[in-house]
Amino acid sequence: MKKRILVVEDESIVRLDIAMMLEEAGFEIAAQVGDGEKAIELALTLQPDLIIMDIKMPKLNGLKASEIISKKLNIPILILTAYSQREYIEKAKQANIVGYLVKPISEANLIPAVEIALKQAETAETYREQLENMNKQLQQRKIVEKAKGIIMEKFNLPEDDAYKKMRKISMSQQVPMENVAKRIILKYHA
Ligand SMILES: [Mg+2]
Repeated sequence: MKKRILVVEDESIVRLDIAMMLEEAGFEIAAQVGDGEKAIELALTLQPDLIIMDIKMPKLNGLKASEIISKKLNIPILILTAYSQREYIEKAKQANIVGYLVKPISEANLIPAVEIALKQAETAETYREQLENMNKQLQQRKIVEKAKGIIMEKFNLPEDDAYKKMRKISMSQQVPMENVAKRIILKYHA
């Protein structure tokens, strides 16, 4: 599937130019807008894979818009900057900014930067998912352990037998161990 990019730049010629370069390279333009407020609105509704954001724009500047978007969404942002704006960049550390492109923008600097940003975002997403899964598994194990402890105490059973008892309920009623454990905790440990 084509990656969808939101292009935010107030100079329409520059914006169109960037959009064309991206399309030619096989990306989809989710939308093109010219100010920071619209950028926030469209980022939230369209949830693109990447945002390319100019700094100096009417209504709301690109760094402020990036900060607001980053509080709500995990979308990588590539900043477009004029050389003189570099001093602002330090201020935007909390946003999901993954890179800076210094104007004038050419195909030779735009496309590789976009590809790297998307690749990094993908890797980060995989890590996030793995971490989430690990936490979930750990949480499930804790619940099962707790229920097992309750069974051991209530029925005066050794650990193995308590576990087997739970396993048996899980199998016969075809419910996951975690649910069996939750029921046990609710029933005996309220
Ligand atoms: Mg501008």
